[in-house]
Amino acid sequence: MGKSGYTSLSLDETRYSKLRKSWDNIVGKDTDDTFTVWATTVLEQSVERVSLIKSMFPNYVWVGKTDTGCVIKDKSTIIEVKWSKNKLVCSVDSGLCSHCVYAALNSKF
Ligand SMILES: [Zn+2]
Repeated sequence: MGKSGYTSLSLDETRYSKLRKSWDNIVGKDTDDTFTVWATTVLEQSVERVSLIKSMFPNYVWVGKTDTGCVIKDKSTIIEVKWSKNKLVCSVDSGLCSHCVYAALNSKF
């Protein structure tokens, strides 16, 4: 029986073990949150982030990740966004553009 007021979330044991080890080493030592509280907050923020990205960039579609960045589609134009000399660059524009912002905000990037 679970804790009163909570529901359960089943995670793949191998992925949870790897995630928990990373969390303990990277995040856990710097927060007072339990893993469960932290994970719930991150899930909520991730959904909000997806909603924000969809509302800010309704014409962009994530195509895929590359070794150095990602590919997105802006209406009918295919665009590559990649890291170059510690800066995000786009195959269409010069300087920081909305394609770079879209890529940087995307959790798949
Ligand atoms: Zn661009």
